[in-house]
Amino acid sequence: RAGTGHDAPIVFFSEDMNQKATERFRLEGELRQAIAHGQLELFHQPKVSLRNGRIVGAEALLRWNHPRHGLLTPGHFIPLAEDTSLILELGEWVLAEACRQIMLWRSTGLDMPPLAINLSARQFDRHLPKRIERLLDSFRISPQHLKLEITESLMVRNPDEVIHIMNELAAMGLGIALDDFGTGYSSLAYLKRFPITTLKIDRSFVIGVPHQPNDCAIAQAIVTMGKQLRQEIVAEGVENREQMHYLRQLGCDQLQGYLFSQPLPASQYERLVRDDVRLAL
Ligand code: C2E
Ligand code: MG
Ligand code: MG
Ligand code: MG
Repeated sequence: RAGTGHDAPIVFFSEDMNQKATERFRLEGELRQAIAHGQLELFHQPKVSLRNGRIVGAEALLRWNHPRHGLLTPGHFIPLAEDTSLILELGEWVLAEACRQIMLWRSTGLDMPPLAINLSARQFDRHLPKRIERLLDSFRISPQHLKLEITESLMVRNPDEVIHIMNELAAMGLGIALDDFGTGYSSLAYLKRFPITTLKIDRSFVIGVPHQPNDCAIAQAIVTMGKQLRQEIVAEGVENREQMHYLRQLGCDQLQGYLFSQPLPASQYERLVRDDVRLAL
């Protein structure tokens, strides 16, 4: 099942618990080595503007080129990393790699739209703004080129501290997107306290539009509220034209999903932007 894009954990060789624990332990060791061995890679999934079909951004999604299992998606290893401090090392790698990629694009004179990275809640400590600032400085890139995607789980943990950190990031000029919106446990009141610039409608609601009345109601409520709060609205996991038409009519700003493009290796994504490809609306 490796590399199929499904998030189900890999079933290793035997259902025997002992053996599973051993394999998990082995995978953890391998993940530790993955960074040093250059096995990690960022894929890029375009975000498409509903105004003109142009690519106006991308999300960086982590992949692990595993020597035996092939290309692994995060569902296979992020939960494992979250259970250990490995998530911090992975997170640092992703941040630095995204900055390096942005710098590379700029050095070739390409006018690439902003790149968003996913942050784990555990990465979010009071040193994060300084670390990001140093990275931006050392790669000589401006904050407008980098965006951060966070989830609601982060906001409920320690709201006051998190608000403080997020305000620092926002003051630096970084866009902050609330990912998988509507699936977590945060209250709507949080939305006005946190400097969120973008709301991403979770795929679990996008799946049901336009045929499931409940999903339509939720999508519509998110768009209406986000607009009032002057947030940009992105829908994720758009797979067909019916969904696209519905979300456009609701007033979403951007769409992301297999209908337009899978997450791509950097060179392929770069070519789409270079050729100014308009993804069909
Ligand atoms: P996410 O941030 O919500 O990312 C969207 C996920 O949906 C990605 O899965 C993407 O490949 C998938 N997707 C995009 N369009 C479609 C579609 O039309 N249909 C379907 N069925 N799926 C679609 P992926 O790459 O497997 O990543 C899963 C999750 O892993 C991400 O969800 C994010 O929470 C996490 N993740 C990915 N990269 C990183 C990272 O660098 N750091 C951290 N902490 N988490 C990451
Ligand atoms: Mg995301
Ligand atoms: Mg998401
Ligand atoms: Mg999601």
